[in-house]
Amino acid sequence: MNRNALTVIDAGILLTPLNRFAPGRLIIDGSSIADGGPAATIQLPSGAERIDASQMLVVPGFIEPHIHGCGGVDVMEGTYDCLNAISRILPGHGTTSFLATTVSSLPDVLTAAVEKLGALTHRTFDGAQLIGIHLEGPFISTTKRGTHKCANVLAPDAALLEKWLRRANKSVRLVTLAPELSGANELVRLAKDYGAQLAMGHSNATFEEAKSAVERGICYAVHTFNAMRAFSHREPGIVGEVLADDRIFAEIIADGIHVDPAVVRLFARAKGKERVLLVSDGISATAMPDGRYVLGQDTVEVINGVCRDAEGRLAGSTLTQENALRNFVEWTGWSIEDALLGLTLNPARALRLEKKGVLEAGADADVVLMDHTFRVMKTFAKGKLVFDRLWTN
Ligand SMILES: [Zn+2]
Repeated sequence: MNRNALTVIDAGILLTPLNRFAPGRLIIDGSSIADGGPAATIQLPSGAERIDASQMLVVPGFIEPHIHGCGGVDVMEGTYDCLNAISRILPGHGTTSFLATTVSSLPDVLTAAVEKLGALTHRTFDGAQLIGIHLEGPFISTTKRGTHKCANVLAPDAALLEKWLRRANKSVRLVTLAPELSGANELVRLAKDYGAQLAMGHSNATFEEAKSAVERGICYAVHTFNAMRAFSHREPGIVGEVLADDRIFAEIIADGIHVDPAVVRLFARAKGKERVLLVSDGISATAMPDGRYVLGQDTVEVINGVCRDAEGRLAGSTLTQENALRNFVEWTGWSIEDALLGLTLNPARALRLEKKGVLEAGADADVVLMDHTFRVMKTFAKGKLVFDRLWTN
């Protein structure tokens, strides 16, 4: 064992998040977790660097499946420097790995973006890790396209999808589509062949259509309620299926703008702690002042942190996962351990990330230290300290 690489974190409360140890102790060896558990039972290795987190919560790094950019940068720019800029900002908000999320764009624009992002996936960045691509559109419903431009929305085209999956070098991990479109089945089979998960979103699916999508293996819903056929007590629609079917992992944007806090509470009760995904859908304007920003190739105006396109439609958010967690706990009354699942173990399971979302021996050492107001104080990505609040003072 390389002694120099050992770090011991003495935690006031360690949330793995399946177990709670207070006090707890976590041992990091290089880029992995070597051990974790009750402080009294984990021996202190000699020569290790010790971090006193006795006044803090120690939790797994957050996994972000749905982010378009931050810090003035959009992921579709696709250069190392752009992605690195995003990578450096995210750990300050608890996020240690993310899927670069594209928006519906002209085919050539998307081809170029997935090619560039595919080449960057798994390269080393200064902060959070880029773990793949989330292709949001363009095979979505024209009536539920949200801010995705009409001209960029396409009918299912298997040849085109296959081209993107191939050019992305198997880095596409999630494909959001509208399952009710004719030809969607072929896309589902294709994406699975390339190891991607499927999500339903920007969809006008009826209850029956959404149910049949789940039978075909689409067990993930993107920004629940937003850009979906509305719920009605006689035709529950896709929203009714997402809420009622325990197999579906469901994203929610807990910013208080995309979904009313009361509906977030209802959503939490319906989905339960093992199926909630707390995502940001953040765009380049995140962690920036109000002004004009880009989302893909489109311009977005941000006023008081709310992003809208030229037609006034919501166009992503300026939410961070740190704020999503705080809002969600406040609005639902859930315990921190239950709410944390929505940023750690649940996205890891939904995306089949085996070494992430949990602090146990062998897992990646993605670790966040938070104070008791859930403010991120220090963040480790694969064992490396990538954020320390002291640096910002
Ligand atoms: Zn969207």
